Amino acid sequence: MITTKDLTKVYTSRGGRTTALRGVDLHVREGEVYGVVGTSGAGKSTLIRCVNMLERPSSGTVTVDGVELTALPGTEQRAGRELRAARQRIGMVFQHFNLLASRTVQQNVELPLEIRGLDRTARRRRAGELLELVGLADKAQSYPKQLSGGQKQRVGIARALAGDPRVLLSDEATSALDPQTTRSILQLLRRLNQELGLTVLLITHEMDVIKSVCDSAALMREGRIVEAGPLTELIATD
Ligand code: ADP
Ligand code: ADP
Repeated sequence: MITTKDLTKVYTSRGGRTTALRGVDLHVREGEVYGVVGTSGAGKSTLIRCVNMLERPSSGTVTVDGVELTALPGTEQRAGRELRAARQRIGMVFQHFNLLASRTVQQNVELPLEIRGLDRTARRRRAGELLELVGLADKAQSYPKQLSGGQKQRVGIARALAGDPRVLLSDEATSALDPQTTRSILQLLRRLNQELGLTVLLITHEMDVIKSVCDSAALMREGRIVEAGPLTELIATD
């Protein structure tokens, strides 16, 4: 469902060059929860941002759901039509939720639907279904600041599902949450994986997250995947 081949990313800035990815081959099968773990600076964030082309890799290929994204025209700032369409099939969840403070929970979830051009009635109905799915139907008219961290992340997840994605990317979704809330969010991701057949790629710096929810995982270090496979095998080689 997600494949990267020989992916490299070099950031250049006035300060010099940073090589964040050095030949990453990732293979995530349809329907699995796949975790990438590593310490800060290992390249996890860059990898996940290359998978949805928020960053354009320096070389190598990214294929999601049969579409080679790296072959589609457009830049990081201005994606072409095909890339925009492919991206709608990829949901993204963020560590700091990235909700709009001035909008209600329902309006936050409606935002991607608005961009897709759904009319008001259809948006409202779909947002209602999504909030039901993540267990937040009663908070539709609340504002983000009235919610707990776990509730905010549920809104983030509902918004990520608005485009009916086949793939959900999670960038440290539980890193700002306490252990109990972390468990409930991971359980939600697992349930969505099972009920919707959603493929989940998550990055984390916590091995516990990998152990509690992932089918397979990769360990990253200094821009490379140094170990990868089904969780049972990875744990056995500990
Ligand atoms: P992780 O998510 O594992 O912490 P990152 O992908 O954020 O790792 O970072 C990998 C390396 O790339 C680090 O050395 C980081 O400083 C560098 N880096 C990340 N983003 C940028 C950027 N936009 N510009 C320059 N360097 C970056
Ligand atoms: P995290 O490690 O939690 O992903 P960071 O604080 O490393 O977050 O990065 C936050 C943002 O800054 C990201 O968008 C990342 O791409 C960017 N970034 C990280 N390192 C650098 C860097 N050395 N130069 C420029 N931008 C960077």
